[in-house]
Amino acid sequence: MQTDIEIAQAAEVWPIEKIAEKAGLTPAEWEPYGRDKAKISVDETAHKSELGKLVLVTSINPTPAGEGKSTVTVGLADALNGIGQQTMVALREPSLGPVMGLKGGATGGGYAQVVPMADINLHFTGDFHALTSAHNTLAAVIDNSIYQGNPLHIDPRRLLWKRALDVNDRALRHVTIGLGGPTSGVPREDGFDITVASELMAILTLSHDLMDMKARIERIVIGYTYDKEPVTVKDLGVAGALTTLLKDAIKPNLVQTLAQTPALIHGGPFANIAQGTNSIRATKTALQLADYVVTEAGFGADLGGEKFLDFKTPLLGKHPDVIVVVATVRALKMHGGLPKTALTEPDEQALATGLANLGQHLQSMTRYGVPVIVAVNRFVTDTPEEIAMVEAYARDFGVQAYVADVWAKGGAGATELASAVAEAAQVASDFKPLYEADDDAVVKIEKIVQTIYGGAGVELSDKAAKQLREFAKRGWDKLPVIMAKTQYSLSDDAKKLGAPKDFKIHVREFIPKLGAGFLVVMTGTVLTMPGLPSHPAAYDIDIDENGRITGLF
Ligand code: ADP
Repeated sequence: MQTDIEIAQAAEVWPIEKIAEKAGLTPAEWEPYGRDKAKISVDETAHKSELGKLVLVTSINPTPAGEGKSTVTVGLADALNGIGQQTMVALREPSLGPVMGLKGGATGGGYAQVVPMADINLHFTGDFHALTSAHNTLAAVIDNSIYQGNPLHIDPRRLLWKRALDVNDRALRHVTIGLGGPTSGVPREDGFDITVASELMAILTLSHDLMDMKARIERIVIGYTYDKEPVTVKDLGVAGALTTLLKDAIKPNLVQTLAQTPALIHGGPFANIAQGTNSIRATKTALQLADYVVTEAGFGADLGGEKFLDFKTPLLGKHPDVIVVVATVRALKMHGGLPKTALTEPDEQALATGLANLGQHLQSMTRYGVPVIVAVNRFVTDTPEEIAMVEAYARDFGVQAYVADVWAKGGAGATELASAVAEAAQVASDFKPLYEADDDAVVKIEKIVQTIYGGAGVELSDKAAKQLREFAKRGWDKLPVIMAKTQYSLSDDAKKLGAPKDFKIHVREFIPKLGAGFLVVMTGTVLTMPGLPSHPAAYDIDIDENGRITGLF
């Protein structure tokens, strides 16, 4: 069996000008980055004012068995094109941390991939490097301000802005900086986040244009003064420099799928401490260019899906026309209690138990008033009986389920799914937001916990409750909330698989992200700098004298 990279290397990759033309871009709207990638900047007035249909791909709670959301997203877009619907795909950019860490990129898999796969998974068009540079420039400016007499009275013990690198490196989570005597700065505790966790990443993906990005950067709260007053980037006076560093990163990247479907891949915020979807610019542009846009939201429907519907949708000004919930028989069996080593054996009992996880997501997604469809991402070990069980279970929720065999067959493996999606997209939907914009933060969180997670309620730590009282004084208490919760469970305990009931979500603290415009709600332990596993993917990656890469999935 060929690996993902072998399939990608054997693919017919069109020159990017042909893809730009296929996407309907004018020559002035794209600039090549090599032969098969381009940066694009679209003149909104030059394209159709009626936006295309938006298809959101989300999933059950992820398990180590893998769900294949990106794979289904890419395969479904190819399938829609295959049945004659002009379609584009909009995805996030992969982060180098996981690429070198856990096996599994973000460019799809098998015969449903975006290419050039290696480039996209490595440095791509440099967006993440630009973000890392901008992030660390701000960190350096903060420490320099403290060193140069600290005119802003920044309290070094109350800084929120850490440093960032696009690696998985647990040793950098907590560091001491400024050692080496008076000329080397003021010693203080610091730490690193992975670049995708930077507020600048969230900002890049939320900004409509350069000036919006600059205004958002100005609003970032980097920490507090000795009098506990917020200090912003505007106070430091470097929003212009940081925006300058991001002037190209803000432009979406154009590539293609294995079936030459135009794909916009742009930005990659985490789906726990940020919104977890590609940039608003990329989604909006794709909607202006294509009749159908298939996009994906990170982790399960409880994290990325909820954030897309409650946070991204109002900013985008367009709700999804169809929601596709990806499930795999393997992952459902894990939710039913099977260990990863036993997933290839048929086990209807485990599947029947695990289906409750799908059930909770179907209940929560159907409440938005948009048609929902289940895509069963087929693995070769799935039996027809197991797939029939998933289909029958979904039907009980009034939801149709279709097999997506795109990993093995590309778009041809999802013709039925594509036809169902295209048909459902024509239904006029009555989108119902989960919460009102002016609900208090706690009300918003309660609605998410009870309706989306199926939980009983919310418990705030003393620190979180105190923070909310302070935020109310500053007018931050009605900001949208971004739940930072484990992706593995509907609860905040990663070990509670399936559909746990009667649980409470424990809010440890809030992190205000005024530039991005949300409050991060920290529940349980959510790492913003991952570590490497015992056998990092980096051990298996190699390159030969001809530049041919192996081992990249
Ligand atoms: P997600 O987007 O949910 O994280 P991906 O689409 O990136 O998942 O897939 C993760 C990995 O699983 C990829 O390496 C992909 O090749 C593999 N994969 C996905 N679907 C299948 C399938 N049906 N059969 C075998 N492998 C698959």
